[in-house]
Amino acid sequence: MTSRAGTAPSIVWLRRDLRLADQAALLAAAQEGPVIPVYVLDDETPRNFRMGAASRWWLHHSLACLDRQLRGIGSRLILRRGKCHEELAAIRRETGARTVHALHHYEPWWRNAESAVAKTFRLHLHDGNYLAPPGSILTGSGSPYKIYTPFWNALRERMPPAPPTPEPTSLEAPEVWPRSDNLEDWGLIPATPDWASGFREEWTPGEVGACERLQDFAGRAGGYANFRNLPSDDCTSRLSPHLHFGEMSPATVWQSVADAGGSVEVFLGELGWRDYAQTVIIQFPEYGSRNAREAYDSLNWQTDRVSLLAWQQGRTGYPIVDAGMRELWHTGWMHNRVRMIAASFLVKHLLIDWREGERWFWDTLVDADYGSNAVNWQWTAGTGVDSNMFVRIMAPLTQSPKFDAADYIRRWVPELAHLSDRDIHDPAVPPTGYPAKIVDHAAARARALAAHDRMKHG
Ligand code: FAD
Repeated sequence: MTSRAGTAPSIVWLRRDLRLADQAALLAAAQEGPVIPVYVLDDETPRNFRMGAASRWWLHHSLACLDRQLRGIGSRLILRRGKCHEELAAIRRETGARTVHALHHYEPWWRNAESAVAKTFRLHLHDGNYLAPPGSILTGSGSPYKIYTPFWNALRERMPPAPPTPEPTSLEAPEVWPRSDNLEDWGLIPATPDWASGFREEWTPGEVGACERLQDFAGRAGGYANFRNLPSDDCTSRLSPHLHFGEMSPATVWQSVADAGGSVEVFLGELGWRDYAQTVIIQFPEYGSRNAREAYDSLNWQTDRVSLLAWQQGRTGYPIVDAGMRELWHTGWMHNRVRMIAASFLVKHLLIDWREGERWFWDTLVDADYGSNAVNWQWTAGTGVDSNMFVRIMAPLTQSPKFDAADYIRRWVPELAHLSDRDIHDPAVPPTGYPAKIVDHAAARARALAAHDRMKHG
């Protein structure tokens, strides 16, 4: 079966690259003739890394946006559910497509899926979801980097990335469209209870929303270096879910921010962390579930469901931690400084294995990302390949005034909203409805250091 032009259509296999602009797979397929854009849901992913509820909410809206955009240029998005190689093979039978174009992805399950697809298709994998192809930035001796700073220095030398390519203005349709699922039938968005009202207030998933967010941020990126650690100021880009779902390429972000001028080096370095995380998971595919420093397997981690629940619900009695955890629940996102404080609190104050925190973030973050989540959790816990941070125990009650979090706490912990800028970080007597501290800072710190010592010395 062939198209009107007599050319078999090509499949564009979309995953975390839900955009039209700077999309090398789409561009290459369009140059060959008719195009069938396809998204396959889920069965490839191991059960414990199936997309969490927050990510599914995002995915629904991002796919709807992409379909609208594709229809605007004469195409549409085909939705299928199952194993990618089986669904793509079925589409081949329905349409005669023999070639698949896709962007590279580095999660271990995607690499396996690519091998399976390559058995029945001419599979062309393109770059473009990272600043440089992950795995291409190597030390002088030709091995991949394990530590962020030298990795970034080497990556920076290769920058800027190639200029982004524009989105296609039309796509040739195949003679026959394959069957497609109905997005509404996938049940990605919550019905009862509808917990996503805070998400709707905060986000516009999809490439259109991503462009608006970038435009807004580029104009104020010059203030990022000074204010990025202040959770009360809305000064970071909030591009993370858009970047995670590939609704815009990092090259597009780089170009817009660099073109805006001003001092943006710190921001570009943060973008570099995204690439670094991929370098790590290529070397350590099980990074999301195994300690890179195996000695930490024997640390006396606590199984403490009550404290874990208090942390998840933002009821630890530490206002900055609780504000962060409630922001996460309400919006699917948390400020980076507060992520660090909340993560350190779980691992060190509560002595709970980082994987419990990683799981919770996986389910609740709209930017939940296999590489970035694992790298940041293992970094905080000191179990990772980068510098060992276990003994750096963040003091939430010091961090909170240091980073001027009073208004942030007021917003997310209304029980404390009436307190003064001085008292809100550590109320002497918890007001009605707000819990007392679930652990004492000094005692928790001493317990963590003692546990670490015992692990080290046998
Ligand atoms: P900005 O400060 O504006 O930075 C711009 C972009 O750079 C971000 O959108 C993001 O893509 C990238 N970036 C910035 N910091 C980091 C970082 N430390 N690691 C990797 N990429 C970074 N980020 C995720 O994208 N997904 C996750 O699952 C995730 N889990 C995290 C878990 C913990 C425990 C911690 C401490 C951090 C985690 N981060 C994660 C990193 C960081 O908190 C977010 O990327 C950032 O808060 C997103 O907000 P922003 O878009 O405003 O970032």
